[in-house]
Formats: sequence, structure tokens, C-alpha cells
Amino acid sequence: MSLIEEKRYLRKLLFGFMALLILLTGCTDPNYANNEPESKQTLVIQHATIVDVRSGKLVSDQTITITENKINHIGNSEDVDIPDFAQVRDAKGQYVIPGLWDMHVHLEENYKNALPLLLANGVTGVREMGASLTNVDQWNKSIQAGMTAPHLVYAGMILNGGPADEAPHMVYLKTAEEAREAVRLNAEKGASLIKVYSWLPRSLFLAVMDEAKKFGLPVGGHLPVEVRASEAVQLGFKSIEHLHGLFIATSSIEDDIFENADMSDLLGYSLAEIEASQHYDSEKADKLFRTFKEKEVWPVPTMVTYLNMAKTEIDPRSKYVPTAVQEYWAEVISATPPEQTELMAAINSTTPGMVQKLNDAGVPMLAGTDSSYEMTNFIYGVSLHDELEMLVKRGGLTPLQALQTATLNPSRYLDREQELGTVEEGKLADLVLLDKNPLEDIRNTTSISAVVLDGKLMEKQTLDQSVKTYPVIQVADIKDKLE
Ligand SMILES: [Zn+2]
Repeated sequence: MSLIEEKRYLRKLLFGFMALLILLTGCTDPNYANNEPESKQTLVIQHATIVDVRSGKLVSDQTITITENKINHIGNSEDVDIPDFAQVRDAKGQYVIPGLWDMHVHLEENYKNALPLLLANGVTGVREMGASLTNVDQWNKSIQAGMTAPHLVYAGMILNGGPADEAPHMVYLKTAEEAREAVRLNAEKGASLIKVYSWLPRSLFLAVMDEAKKFGLPVGGHLPVEVRASEAVQLGFKSIEHLHGLFIATSSIEDDIFENADMSDLLGYSLAEIEASQHYDSEKADKLFRTFKEKEVWPVPTMVTYLNMAKTEIDPRSKYVPTAVQEYWAEVISATPPEQTELMAAINSTTPGMVQKLNDAGVPMLAGTDSSYEMTNFIYGVSLHDELEMLVKRGGLTPLQALQTATLNPSRYLDREQELGTVEEGKLADLVLLDKNPLEDIRNTTSISAVVLDGKLMEKQTLDQSVKTYPVIQVADIKDKLE
């Protein structure tokens, strides 16, 4: 090799090395991408009507420019220049809402089935409310390996007291030290809240509140039966699932119940709540609800829970639910004594009244479903739309308020209003494209045409293809099989 050839060779080598360096830093350094706008993945949604979930205004003929995973620009369609490298989606005649959040689900081992189903229903974020830490590892591993999934925040394992059961998603605590240790374990696994359960003794509840504070984690869940709602909220309790304890807390017989009622099991607790609902004390309620607003306590009604569990047939939309799960549900339904179904129906009939009172008092709420295959007739994603419908038709919310429970309110609860909750510049590009106006009829949230998750467009057809279907079985079929 001559000297000139050698120089040329070295230069080539150096050039290649530098190109590789640029490529590598380009992958890891987000600032690099800002210098090269043309290289960014761009999605443009044209001629859309944006639903402003803050004000309830409809803004027509808008063009949304999405760069990578963020909404970069929104403007009148006639004024916006579209880069020629962009992927363009015409949304003429369609409505764009923020991606929906289901604030109470249990993914457990069902995540491979549940996550595509949630996405196909426009759910771009979930708050998982109790699973084993093994399950937490499984989801995180799958998502890191590239599984498409809604944004996920989770509680980790549920902190409970009382006699130990087999449930792998719960720990049964005996001492304050155990309680503190459980908080630490969840925190180490990346939990974004600590969930407590009905039978956690008050002394351990106090230890949990204290330990969680050290990690900056909110505490929510089932209000323990030994703890009054007024005390819990003063201590910073953040979300009240299933409205547990609220009938007791707003009744004139609260003292009597805390002194005399046996609430050591679900039946005893439920009967106390139903009894308390007959003794509503509006002055007491107003005071409590004011504290909710001041302290930002979020009730999560999960009205659909009682509706689903009171059903005596398999929901015809269970075609998305694996056969083995449907068979299990059919067995549970046929083995459930009518008294229990009646009890569920009774709670089902009292809950809407509390939702109305909270809403009248101006307390914002969160949409949650309690979806899990452990309980009958819960269908991931589908149940969230049922919850929104119930919030309107039975809870007295306007369609806008119902939409807020799954968009704007979760962003506030999560303290992520900067990136979630509305369709605005600078936020994450999590969107749902609807064929019909959800402010006219809340059921129109089911008229899904496409979903955008982290800036990635998924058409309805693609979403449906990612979801498996099964034949729907009848409870009678299982009864015949069992006999
Ligand atoms: Zn739950």
C-alpha cells in the first residue's frame, strides 16, 4: 500500500468510525434528534374535530402534527403545512379524544390477553390495583421486550390483615414492621401507589401511611373497616376504591356502626353500608366532601363491578374472553346463592346515589372497572365503556364529566397533567379517533376508528386482529356438564 493509499484508507476508516459514532449517539442522545427534524417519525392527523375535555368545546377541522411520541403542533387544517415525509391520516368527520385510562384493573397473569383488548378499546393507560410481584416482573419483562401495551402504573401487592388466604396478590400482615417492609418491597418494584385492603388493622394502616410517605407514595384502596374515612383523608389517603366506607362515613349512625357492627367479613361490612345508606346526614357529607376537594382525594366508584357481578348469564360480549375463563364464570354464577346476587343487586342500587351526591358536591372522580378474570363478566376495555355509561345514566354525570374521569382526572391524580389528559401541544400522543361525538352520547366512546399510542397509529382493523375471539358459552351448558 502506497502512502497516499494508506492515508485514503485511514481516512475511510475514520469516516466510517465517525458515522458509527453519530449513529450510536443519535440513538441514545435525544438532543441529537432535534438537529435533524427530517429524520423524525411524523404522523399528521388531518381535518379532525378535537374534543376539548377541559371545556367541552368541539374544535373542528384541526390538523394534529405528532413528532415521535408527542403532539408537536395543532392548528387549523388550512394553515398547517404537512412535511412530505409524514404519515398522513385523514380524520374528516371524526372526533379526537385523549387516550382513555382505566384507573382500577387487575392484570395479574392475564396481561397477554388483556393488554391488546384494552388498546382495542381505546385504553392507553391503566392503573393496576394489586398483583404479585412475580406478575409485576412478568409484565415489565414483556413490555421491555417490545410488547405493545398501554402506559402502566401499578400498586404491586395489596396490603391486608386478617386470616391469611391463598391470594398471591395480597400479603396478610401481622405487625407494623411487616407492614413497613411490604411498603418497601412494593416501592423497590416501582409501585406508584400503595394499596391497602379492608381488613388491615388500624395500627398497621397508620404504619403504612407513615412508611409510604417516606417513599413519596400515595396510599389508596379499600378503606380498612377499622378506619374512619374522615381520619384516612386527614392522613392523606388518596383514592377510595368502590366508594367503600362512604355510606358509613356520611351517615348519622357512624359512631354506632364503629362501636357495634361486626364488619369482620365482606357480608358484615356490606350490610353495615346498606344500613348506613338509610341514615344519610347531608351536613356531615358536605363537610367530608369539602375535605375531599381540599386534600384531592379521588373516589373511584367502579359502578360496573356490582353490575357485572349481579349478572346471572355470561355477557354476550365475552367473545374476547378465553373459554376456560368463561367456563369458570359459568360455574361461579351457577354456584352463587341467590342471596349473594341479591346483596350485589342491593349495593348496585345504592351506589349511584352516592355517585350523584359526590358529583353534586363537585368532587371529581376516576373511572375504574376492577377488571379481572377472577370475577364474573369483566371484559378488559369493554367494561370501561360500560362504567362511563353508568356514570352518566345512573350517576348523573354529564358525558363531558364522564369523559374527564378517564382522561383529565387521571392526569391530575397521577400528577402528570403536563403530558396526559387532553389533546394539546406538548403532550404525549395518546389519542382515540371516534366516528361519533361522545359529548352527544357517552356510548359513542365505543365508535373507535383508530388509536394512537405514543405517536403510533393503530387502525381499528389492526387492533381487532391483535385480539383473539372465542365462542360465548351459556351458564346452562355448564350446569348440564356438571350434572
Ligand atoms: Zn380491585
